[in-house]
Amino acid sequence: KVRVRYAPSPTGHLHIGGARTALFNYLFAKHYDGDFIFRLEDTDIERNIEGGEASQLENLAWLGIVPDESPFHPNPECGPYRQMEALDIYKGYVDELIEKGLAYKCFCTAEELAEEKERQEKLGVAPMYNRKCSHLTAEEVAEKEAAGLPYTVRVKVPEGKTYTFKDMIRGEVSFESKDIGDWVIVKSNGIPTYNFAVTIDDHRMGITHVFRGEEHLSNTPKQLMIFEMLGLTPPTYGHMTLIVNENHKKLSKRDESIMQFVSQYKDEGYIPEAMFNFLSLLGWSPEGEEEIFSKEELIKIFDEKRLSKSPSMFDKNKLIWINNRYMKALPLEEVIPLAKPFLEEAYDLSNYSDEWVNKLIALYHDQMSYGKEIVEISSLFFKDDYTLDEDGKEVMSWETTPIVKAEFANQLKEVEEWTAENIKAALKATQKATGIKGKPLFMGLRVSVTAQEHGPDLTQTIELLGKDYVLDRLSK
Ligand code: GLU
Repeated sequence: KVRVRYAPSPTGHLHIGGARTALFNYLFAKHYDGDFIFRLEDTDIERNIEGGEASQLENLAWLGIVPDESPFHPNPECGPYRQMEALDIYKGYVDELIEKGLAYKCFCTAEELAEEKERQEKLGVAPMYNRKCSHLTAEEVAEKEAAGLPYTVRVKVPEGKTYTFKDMIRGEVSFESKDIGDWVIVKSNGIPTYNFAVTIDDHRMGITHVFRGEEHLSNTPKQLMIFEMLGLTPPTYGHMTLIVNENHKKLSKRDESIMQFVSQYKDEGYIPEAMFNFLSLLGWSPEGEEEIFSKEELIKIFDEKRLSKSPSMFDKNKLIWINNRYMKALPLEEVIPLAKPFLEEAYDLSNYSDEWVNKLIALYHDQMSYGKEIVEISSLFFKDDYTLDEDGKEVMSWETTPIVKAEFANQLKEVEEWTAENIKAALKATQKATGIKGKPLFMGLRVSVTAQEHGPDLTQTIELLGKDYVLDRLSK
């Protein structure tokens, strides 16, 4: 059975990159009827943040990714799902490696290691641990331990070995053991390092496949080394390419041109199904031209062979386009709660009825991509700011504009019941009375009333702006 995992560190909230990793693992698992496991790499205790774990899980759930196993849904044979709760398990394996002579305690101090590194750099060789402590006798080790000296545990990297594996995305990849120094598997605080703990976790949870970011590629030979030393079977790996911004630069957490945390999209009223769809296209593409897919469809068509070998660009236009497609497909009842809180926050709505607010949201429904966007695109209803841009000034200079303005005002004065339908009739009457139609009529009136050349349905806009306001505008 296929078993995959998403293993974040609770050092931050769910990042776009992490969400994508989780999503591809999830799609792969579900495509093959397998299990998607959530576990935590919480050994970097100083960097863990309060609520990091819950936040990761909540944001995944918002996207529609619910793990089959997690700290809250453990499989009794595979737990614990938090590394800090599995320290005894790691220790058992560390002892085994030491007993077999495949790992050793290292008492070198940070100063000694830094000095050695400097010496090697001066010689122009790649810095690597000089294996000093691998030569300690059992008595020397016992003596140092008895003296209470702190130590790390290092793995004794085999000589002259090539680690080769078939990456699901990159094909065959090889690393030479001579390029890997005796690396630390247990830190001096007794906590295992990532490369060691992750190997044990993947084994004890029966992980069959791993999709992760390409920054982990060079970790893979270290992990393969441990699997081999312990006589265990490694999973099959696939290293996904980077996500880059529109300038083709690696997405860095400091890049402010892109919202990088899933919670930010949630907080701005994006649609989770649209985000799931968007993320699925970040480094993967289906056959054919279609790009709008539900989660169920994606599970069905997902094919790991179509994961991209080149960096994937975070295309903001596509993000907006996809969200807009989903927004349009939502019934108005679902759009209202996505948009209304942002209007309430941005504007004083105390003079408006619920009905009016709902009509306003309906007016912009098709134009919106995310809830918060309503604030900006509907601002003409809330700010008495009539400023024309160059195109607007041109429309106001047409000789037909004053004529349609005056006539429309006359017609509107007669309207008793202020409905879009009656306003439409007034517009028709204006056309008839002036003989002006098409762009000179509609654009002339739109700009006269709203100062904008584009916008939603004109008669509905006029209805919502209200009679007094519109007549006032037309008189200016
Ligand atoms: N905690 C690691 C990360 O967030 C997971 C690495 C892995 O998947 O092996 O990048």
